[in-house]
Amino acid sequence: MHEFDVIARYFSWDTTATRSVVRGVGDDAAVLDVPADKQLVTSIDTLISGVHFPQHTSAQAIGHKALAVNLSDLAAMGANPAWFTLALTMPEINNDWLKGFSSGLQSLAQHYGVLLVGGDTTRGPLSISIQVMGLVDKGKALLRSGANVGDKIYVTGTLGDAAAGLQTILGKLTLAQTDQQLCQQQLHQPQPRLRESQAIREFASSCIDISDGLLQDLSHILSASEVGAKLDTKDIPFSAALKTLKQAQALQFALSGGDDYQLLFTIPAEKEALFLKVLQADMHCIGVITNDKNTIIDQHDQLLTAIGYNHFHE
Ligand code: ADP
Ligand code: MG
Repeated sequence: MHEFDVIARYFSWDTTATRSVVRGVGDDAAVLDVPADKQLVTSIDTLISGVHFPQHTSAQAIGHKALAVNLSDLAAMGANPAWFTLALTMPEINNDWLKGFSSGLQSLAQHYGVLLVGGDTTRGPLSISIQVMGLVDKGKALLRSGANVGDKIYVTGTLGDAAAGLQTILGKLTLAQTDQQLCQQQLHQPQPRLRESQAIREFASSCIDISDGLLQDLSHILSASEVGAKLDTKDIPFSAALKTLKQAQALQFALSGGDDYQLLFTIPAEKEALFLKVLQADMHCIGVITNDKNTIIDQHDQLLTAIGYNHFHE
């Protein structure tokens, strides 16, 4: 089987239904129509076997996750996804693997109506780069730099599940069967929070997606906005699975774990009343922005640092 057959069989999806794709897969480059009143928002993420996913992760999960982490970046910007390109490097042409990979990729792409418009296929150690492109109304992208003192800090979903899931795969943590499944599902098949992004984008002053742990990603908002934060760790949302752990361990996963792909955003005080009317059940206020630059403290005024969370160590 030749590279061209791989592209034709697995990655030439029909894009004729939408007029935004003037030319998709099959020419030297894609030609895309960007509406005059929008801005193009683009991001790329690479997943490398053994680094970004455990070696034996299913092909379907890898396909899902490679796109999901990119869609999560668009969600963090308040953008609607439109198109993506795929650079796939693999050691051999394995039809079973390609079938699983493309089906995981395609079902997520279809779910959000995002179209594969091109890519590159090469031989080498397994690595997947996806560049995603989305659209946002001019000047309306959600940035990291917009948080102000007094803004409330919110997160979507629950935190720490994927980090716990990884520990169960590595054999360093044991959970009940259903809890373990839930956490591994979060690790392998994160759901990009695109709908939530649409609900919050009129209200939020800043936003980021949590991929490296709450503290690390919050610190990006703090440095870009030149502010600090006070969190109430009791308000950090945990799944039923993480609630079965010791609180210190669950907190460690939430604060310093990774791969959550939830949104972390700030809401100005004057918009909070209106925001609360669209607030969804799985969005939680966990703190407030302070003027203590680049400093994160908890409800006891204890310093929280991304490297280790000594206060809760036993
Ligand atoms: P070129 O040599 O001009 O770069 P390629 O053979 O790399 O052409 O690609 C041919 C066409 O197939 C291009 O439209 C390219 O975007 C598309 N393509 C290649 N690999 C992939 C892939 N993995 N997924 C989607 N489209 C792909
Ligand atoms: Mg090429």
